[in-house]
Amino acid sequence: MGSVGCKLLGDAAHLMSPFMGEGVNLAMLDALELALSLVRHGDFEEFLRAYEQKMYEYSSPMATMSDDSLKRFFGDDAAARVRDWFEQMEKEHEEAQDET
Ligand SMILES: Cc1cc2nc3c(=O)[nH]c(=O)nc-3n(C[C@H](O)[C@H](O)[C@H](O)COP(=O)(O)OP(=O)(O)OC[C@H]3O[C@@H](n4cnc5c(N)ncnc54)[C@H](O)[C@@H]3O)c2cc1C
Repeated sequence: MGSVGCKLLGDAAHLMSPFMGEGVNLAMLDALELALSLVRHGDFEEFLRAYEQKMYEYSSPMATMSDDSLKRFFGDDAAARVRDWFEQMEKEHEEAQDET
């Protein structure tokens, strides 16, 4: 968490690997949420606190998924992990098609 008077956004707050395709979206969303929080909260500290709380709520799951993806592509046994991942996605796709 940032200290009083110093708040982070974008990669500085939640570093994204290149394996989610979401880092730019999150950085722009942070900028939007910071502006909206400023409009909604008159008190300076309250505006920063509200922004930071919301930002970490939505960005933490994405950052975790991004980190998982980084490990999948660069960790030990990466080729087998990526193969398993694609097979899992294929299975889920087929199951979803069977339901329709
Ligand atoms: C190889 C790669 C591929 C990616 N592909 C995608 C993708 O397809 N889709 C996607 O959404 N995201 C992708 N990302 C992630 C995305 O690039 C980042 O999440 C996003 O750029 C974060 O934006 P940001 O503004 O927080 O930081 P940055 O874009 O890193 O901007 C920070 C800026 O601050 C400047 N700076 C640093 N220090 C100082 C200083 N002391 N004084 C002044 N300026 C300073 C830097 O030069 C930089 O311009 C990828 C990342 C990588 C590395």
